Amino acid sequence: MAKQSVATLKTICSKVETYYLDAKLDLIHRAYQFADDAHRGQLRSSGEPYMIHPTEVAQTLADLHLDIPSIITGLLHDTVEDTHATLEEIEKEFGKDIAELVDGVTKLSQIAFKTSEEKQAENFRKMILAMAKDIRVILVKLADRLNNMRTLEHLIPYKQKMIAQETLDIYAPIANRLGISWIKLELEDLTLRYLHPHIYFKLAQRIAKTKREREKYIEEVAAIFDERLKEYDIHALVAGRAKHFYSIFKKMERRKVEYEDVYDVIAFRIIVDNITECYKSLGVIHAAYKPVPGRFKDYIAMPKANAYQSLHTTVIGPYGERIEIQIRTQDMHQVAEGGIAAHWKYKEGKFDSRSRENVTWVNRLLEWHKDLSDPNEFLETVKIDLFAEDVFVFTPKGEVKQLSHGATPLDFGYAVHTDVGNKCVGAKVNGKIFPLKHRLKSGDTVEIITSPTQTPSKDWLKIVKSSRAKAKIRTFIKEQERNRAHKLGKEMLDKGLRPFGHTLSKLEKSGELLKAAQPLNIRTDSELFIAVGYGRITTDELIQKIVPKEALEKKLEAAKAEDQSFLKRVFNAAKKKSETSNAITVADLDDVLIRFGRCCNPLPGDSIIGFITRGRGVTVHIASCAKALDSDKERKVEVQWNITEKGAIKRHVRIRVVTLDEPGFLALMSQTISSFGVNIASANIRTTHDKKAIAVFDVEVGDLGQLQKITSALEGKKGVISVERLRS
Ligand code: MN
Repeated sequence: MAKQSVATLKTICSKVETYYLDAKLDLIHRAYQFADDAHRGQLRSSGEPYMIHPTEVAQTLADLHLDIPSIITGLLHDTVEDTHATLEEIEKEFGKDIAELVDGVTKLSQIAFKTSEEKQAENFRKMILAMAKDIRVILVKLADRLNNMRTLEHLIPYKQKMIAQETLDIYAPIANRLGISWIKLELEDLTLRYLHPHIYFKLAQRIAKTKREREKYIEEVAAIFDERLKEYDIHALVAGRAKHFYSIFKKMERRKVEYEDVYDVIAFRIIVDNITECYKSLGVIHAAYKPVPGRFKDYIAMPKANAYQSLHTTVIGPYGERIEIQIRTQDMHQVAEGGIAAHWKYKEGKFDSRSRENVTWVNRLLEWHKDLSDPNEFLETVKIDLFAEDVFVFTPKGEVKQLSHGATPLDFGYAVHTDVGNKCVGAKVNGKIFPLKHRLKSGDTVEIITSPTQTPSKDWLKIVKSSRAKAKIRTFIKEQERNRAHKLGKEMLDKGLRPFGHTLSKLEKSGELLKAAQPLNIRTDSELFIAVGYGRITTDELIQKIVPKEALEKKLEAAKAEDQSFLKRVFNAAKKKSETSNAITVADLDDVLIRFGRCCNPLPGDSIIGFITRGRGVTVHIASCAKALDSDKERKVEVQWNITEKGAIKRHVRIRVVTLDEPGFLALMSQTISSFGVNIASANIRTTHDKKAIAVFDVEVGDLGQLQKITSALEGKKGVISVERLRS
């Protein structure tokens, strides 16, 4: 973290040499000399020579492995503003590139941060623009601010608070957004010292007091981790440290507690060689210590916007304490510490193509700047992006829940408890009632409204943002589907077997059922019922396996007279299933056997309802069908057409046309129907004694719309008296 050795020209040069083999150190020497001459005689508020400040700034830039122009800019950054030196001199001496960088930093420094929000917005915009032009300007400014914060004690209290607040509002978020975590953390800790000195010093005191105890604990836990990992041949760097003051402070604020627990302020870090070992280590740790649910975060698979990668988890440690652990590779560690600077490669002072990807965020800000003319709006947008990752909301009791950006009352409900999520019907947000899809904002107080009859639905998956809520909803729906499929499958089998003198319970007891199901890769009765309920196995498939062929054929013969379709049903069940089942979606049931009621013969486009039928899956009727209205309400299920493209299925419909009996009318009718690209399966014509003709056509149409077009075309023909769709 903080690199606080006393900076000298020599330390800067030796740091630069660690990452630049052919560093042009003479330029750095010249810049140092130039700044030293310019600042000669000036003192800082601390009474020390002024040159200490630019030297420290340049050293921080070297710690960030920045290029030589950046380091030179660090040395020169205050010369134009505070001394007689001019930009022209700098350009003459060090070139245009460096002169522009110094100019950029000087201009940023001249931004007067007023309390007025509008002023701040405008200032912020300038800063972002400077960043977009050359991000090195903002990095020099960050290093400058870091050193100023480190030496803030020498200023008067009013200025301390002002600078600290500005640092917390603007510079720490920018450091975070750029992924330079050590600068962000140090800045935050320093602001705490001036904004909440009472808390800061109390924390400092307590942490100092418990130092020995803590170190002993860290040593002990690190040794345990190390040993466990070694058992699995993982050689890791395990380190523990007290958390930063600011994050402890935030935690105290969040939980509204005092700092007491010595363990609660320690975080562990495990650094391994490769990604596989990261996950392996996670497994080892979770196997040894119980993980705290909901605390695991995989930033390796899903890196943060600032390129940060790590696995985060919290486990219950040997004393029942919570241990926060980060697991990452050495590369990830470098990025975590150095942020986007760690990605940067300079080719003769310029970004290479790889580094350009890292400034896309800045480019996006530049685009916003074009779109948003109102500075306040701009600040709002930028603020939102800087804190985009999380929303913090309160429970009615004041407990804080951390949710993803865009989270809804449902996410909140599931964050409280699975049951609260499952039964959620809405929420009171800051006392007002809002629907499930309302987007929560940081600071909202949320109270979930539940109803005992509420259950999760598939639509909820589109509403929720958090993966936890998504997983819980999916689990619920799956479970519900299985239960329904189980019930349905059992009913279907029972009904299907009865005509052959079998009862399901007997077959179940004797094990015959399972034996018949074994070739279908089914291991339990329950599994079988579910498979039948889902329509993966048809009842007829199973009947064929249980009932001897002769008995089946005998039954078939007997049934033939009364039910022609029985034979087809038994042998062609699978075919039928795939054709129609895909056209209909049954609420909460996947892949179920579907048939259409012959009483009303629904067409895509008709409003429909379904009934669970004993032995035959779900029968679909037109909603107004008399038979459907008569059916048992208990068995009613919601069904929907699922036709993704026009004409995906063809349905037989019977239409009756009454015309005057004139020559050529049949040809006219057929031609009209065929002109819609519709196949006529059969036609029956009879004439009446009052000189009318009645034609009944069986046609294959795709949907209701097509039928209506045909009907009105027929009605428009000369001599046609009526056209009617027959329901049976
Ligand atoms: Mn400065």
